[in-house]
Amino acid sequence: MRLLIVGNGGRASALALKLSEDSRITKMYFAPGNATTEKLGENINETDILALRDFAIQHKVDLTIVGPEAPLVEGIVDEFKKVDLKVFGPSKKAASLEGSKSFSKKFMQTYGIKTAKAVIFDSYVEAKEYLQTQEFPLVIKASGLAGGKGVVIAEDLEEAEGTIHDFMIKRIFGDAGIQVVIEEFLQGFEASIIGVSNGEKLFPFVAAKDYKKAGNGDKGPNTGGMGSVAPSPEYTEAHNADFIQNIMNPTVEGLKKEGLSFKGFIFFGLMVTKNGTYLLEYNMRLGDPETQVLLPLLENNLVDVIEDCLHGRELDLKFKNQKAVCLVVCSGGYPKNHETGYEITGVEKVKNSTVLYAGADYRGSRVVSTGGRVLNIVALGDTYDEARKKVYEDAIPVHFDYAFYRDDIAKF
Ligand code: ATP
Repeated sequence: MRLLIVGNGGRASALALKLSEDSRITKMYFAPGNATTEKLGENINETDILALRDFAIQHKVDLTIVGPEAPLVEGIVDEFKKVDLKVFGPSKKAASLEGSKSFSKKFMQTYGIKTAKAVIFDSYVEAKEYLQTQEFPLVIKASGLAGGKGVVIAEDLEEAEGTIHDFMIKRIFGDAGIQVVIEEFLQGFEASIIGVSNGEKLFPFVAAKDYKKAGNGDKGPNTGGMGSVAPSPEYTEAHNADFIQNIMNPTVEGLKKEGLSFKGFIFFGLMVTKNGTYLLEYNMRLGDPETQVLLPLLENNLVDVIEDCLHGRELDLKFKNQKAVCLVVCSGGYPKNHETGYEITGVEKVKNSTVLYAGADYRGSRVVSTGGRVLNIVALGDTYDEARKKVYEDAIPVHFDYAFYRDDIAKF
């Protein structure tokens, strides 16, 4: 069996490692991949959808799995299906649940999904008028994809007005900010649930917790994720029952009614408040760095899971009764300006964890940093503390210039 995995982050490495357990796989291609995937398969340079489609035809790829949101929103699944290539992921239309925050908010409102109250605006003047009538803090979201930067929690009217001006008039995110969603601020803790869909039903994984802020104690700017833990320590059975009844089941219903049913991964970004579990967003793919802790806990063979979904079969997902911790090691300065190209050494000294490269590539026999989030150190343990100790001990010998990581991942 020949696979093509689109992506290059730590998520692609985690997928590669999990998939490599399956002896039926004879070849894995990664577009564009990283230093981990290069060792497990072959990294390729094709990036645009049609070039990937042609590559898959020429190289007789049996199954394609798409990691990041951009190609899904651009319609990679539709293009692959047109030529009968097997691909796991949502159609362009279903991917709009991630690609357009106004589309997904309308979907949530139509199907009674528990989410923050919100109003959608196309008009700057109307949005500004509405702001005068509101209490703060308030959350302002650019509707389109803005690389995780299009959400502002405005503390007062001045900041809110400045934000809609930046989004709608200055267009700092281009067309992504033409429409804005202005929503109620929810106070609580966040949890991530990844699920798989067989076209009929959704099957959720255990909940994960990710650490979004750059600094210890959740301080500093937002990032793509500085670490993750699974299962989430704060998320209880009661929170999950609320999720199933008020978010997951109506989502399945809505997907069917709107003709958006798909076979692929889905991610629910949740906020758990004193009034229960609320949906903040859908991502129509695996999360990063949640995938890095969820796949090592998944007992099922991932190829079987995907094949079962593609054939519309029932799943029985099983997870190890252990805790997983992922520590992300970043380039100095990330998420702001940072330099790359530094050699990474000491990885061979890692004893009790797995190193999954993200922004790192081979240059000859050396591995060098190429991005902000450079590598992930992942370990399992019977307790959070055991897994946490492993990743932090194993982080000590790993070196590249100006590397940094948070000290408080999985510290409860
Ligand atoms: P991501 O970077 O996860 O893809 P995104 O840019 O697509 O995020 P959201 O997940 O909707 O956008 O929001 C980003 C973050 O903003 C959330 O993880 C959460 O911390 C915060 N946030 C969003 N909506 C709310 C809300 N209604 N109340 C409080 N905080 C919120």
